Amino acid sequence: TLGVINLDASGNIVAGVSTSGMPGKHPGRVGDSPLPGGGLYADDRIGAASCTGDGDQILPFCPSLKAVLKMGQGMTPNAACESVIKEIAERIFPKEMFEIGIVALSVEGEYGAAGSLKRWRDIITGTEYKGFPYAVWNSDHCIEPTIKVVHS
Ligand code: ASP
Repeated sequence: TLGVINLDASGNIVAGVSTSGMPGKHPGRVGDSPLPGGGLYADDRIGAASCTGDGDQILPFCPSLKAVLKMGQGMTPNAACESVIKEIAERIFPKEMFEIGIVALSVEGEYGAAGSLKRWRDIITGTEYKGFPYAVWNSDHCIEPTIKVVHS
């Protein structure tokens, strides 16, 4: 899954997501990615968020909507992302399979991200969790995107 959030100079903010879905998915399955509130959410008064993970597990928690609402209540994008993950982690089952990466950007241009402890795909494939990567690019600076990785 690839999620993008864009804020323009006039303060317009949008979120978009592209995904291949889950491996072996049922025909007709709709995951979290295309659903407002699930894989993406934008409110030009507050900011936007995008997330990915096991859509069947995380969609009921409306993670992107919650991150934006938390920013609207005054949380920084980073704190909002971390808070969403904490809330889901407390309630999700099975916890060992919990996987999520979430990014958020405020209309002021502040951004943040958070990721779950372990990716289920890594457990299954035996690969090592290396964090949740995301990229930040600001056209004012006209430089290459900065790649960041969150570990939690
Ligand atoms: N979030 C996607 C889905 O559940 C899958 C993925 O992130 O790879 O459809």
